[in-house]
Amino acid sequence: MDISEMELTDVLGQAFHCDCGRTHEVKLGTVEISAGALEKIGSMLRKDEFKRPFVVSDHNTYRVAGSKLLSLLSEKDISYSSHVFQDGELIPDERAAGSLLMNMHPDTDLIIAVGTGTIIDLCRFVSYRLKIPYYIVATAPSTDGLASKGAALLKSNYKTTFNCEMPQAIIADVNILATAPKNMIIAGYSDLIGKYTCLADWQLSRIINNEYYCAKVVELAKHSLEKAIAVRKGIDVGKPEAIAELMEALVLSGIAMGYAGSSRPSAGSEHHLSHFWEVRFQFENKPSILHGIKVGIATVLIAELYKYLRQEELDPGIIANINPPALDNWENEIKEMYRDGAQEVILLEQKSQKNNIEQHKQRIRVIAERWEEIVEVLNAVPDPGQIAKLLADVGGFTAPSEVGLDQTLVYEALLYAKEIRARYTILQLLWDLNFLKTYADMLIFKE
Ligand SMILES: [Zn+2]
Ligand SMILES: [Zn+2]
Repeated sequence: MDISEMELTDVLGQAFHCDCGRTHEVKLGTVEISAGALEKIGSMLRKDEFKRPFVVSDHNTYRVAGSKLLSLLSEKDISYSSHVFQDGELIPDERAAGSLLMNMHPDTDLIIAVGTGTIIDLCRFVSYRLKIPYYIVATAPSTDGLASKGAALLKSNYKTTFNCEMPQAIIADVNILATAPKNMIIAGYSDLIGKYTCLADWQLSRIINNEYYCAKVVELAKHSLEKAIAVRKGIDVGKPEAIAELMEALVLSGIAMGYAGSSRPSAGSEHHLSHFWEVRFQFENKPSILHGIKVGIATVLIAELYKYLRQEELDPGIIANINPPALDNWENEIKEMYRDGAQEVILLEQKSQKNNIEQHKQRIRVIAERWEEIVEVLNAVPDPGQIAKLLADVGGFTAPSEVGLDQTLVYEALLYAKEIRARYTILQLLWDLNFLKTYADMLIFKE
């Protein structure tokens, strides 16, 4: 299979055995990306033999697609139940998940999530727990999470990703997508830009920790990025064909995650920064910034770190003698940074032991041994200026200050965002090499 030529129709509902030793499979059966796609809902339900959908939207997505969907269902004499979240900003917590259960008809055999991020996460989770399949009616090309299996919810106020299932179908009506707010379109594109750093992070971990890695999945993830970049001028002016192409790229990116069985092909250090900011905005009760927009900005910062490291004159002799940063005050720092979420972060460290001195020693040995391979990875990450240019080409955001992220929050994220997950990235590598603080200082105080 030639991944660089791959289109969606080649992979849907298919499984193949891969050189990486795993069988990759996509459960997602139908993806309908076209002008007027929503009109096909009747025939899709008939084909999949669903009789009683439960349609979930919020007041915005109801207006742009939900109400139309319900009238299409009525026209076709299909019984349904429906719930419209009226919250200003929908928080994906216990209350929201519970309200879905309360409003769902007991005979529901399909959940239809109308929207993007949060609504989909909630429906995906409830679908998995109740073993009722779900469709997505996308209202904006704002995330590559549509075709993924993960549901990011707030459990006791702490962001937790639940492993669930892919949707059975994605319906993306280009007439609807093209009317999405420009920032949501920018967010989808910027989320894909994160591939530049997350795929390099994955390579680092393959080399340093012998982590599972699949070249085919990486190729697919890169392919999704290239598809989006190729139509960026059209995305900027909202051309429907370009928006459709972006949507397809986002779905392919989700499939890459499905193949890998984790978000590895989509989320590395740039996502750690984004999650850190999200947590802090929540504690400070600030209105959230779209996920992809944070990721785009973070990708520029992380590319800067990659650049610093490749400019460093290191050799195996120097590396072998590096000691890890002091951890005397680590727990207090984490409490200050993560506040209510600190306990989870501390527990994660107890479990993963990523900062453990023996593990550090072991990694330093490998880093010294395989430094040449690491340098190749560093060299393959584009310059931050190039990445910023690609973001600017769609009218995107490139600097933290453009979206209200102040210097302190950027600085703290550079130092502590790596603690949010046990995933090895450039941030942990810089910690290993005892450069993290120096580079964070350089990045913030450069002029
Ligand atoms: Zn593979
Ligand atoms: Zn993302």
